[in-house]
Amino acid sequence: MTAVFATNATGSDQEYLLWLLLHPHGFVLNTESSATSRYFTLHQAGCQTINAAQHEPGAFTQRQYIKVCADELRDLISWGQAQRPHASVEYCGLCNPTPAPSYPAGTPLRPRNT
Ligand SMILES: [Zn+2]
Repeated sequence: MTAVFATNATGSDQEYLLWLLLHPHGFVLNTESSATSRYFTLHQAGCQTINAAQHEPGAFTQRQYIKVCADELRDLISWGQAQRPHASVEYCGLCNPTPAPSYPAGTPLRPRNT
């Protein structure tokens, strides 16, 4: 079973960074804390933009942005369909995660119910 979780509570940067250490082949979604956010970028767990130790304390999860982590990309997309329906799937240009099947960059997350 794949764990998907959002970290947005005080002190959660430490839990987030621990998750990265324990899941080196996992994936991370960077999104804003608001459910109406259109920002939805997927990274590999090792990407330096979501990982760098030199970031200020709290920079990853305690301000405007939150992180959602999973071992499978498709679980992050499922999360997004429920939690970020205004966003479209984007993949980090630096770490270049392999796109999930049926979800190339730019695919709207809005549930298809027509
Ligand atoms: Zn990245």
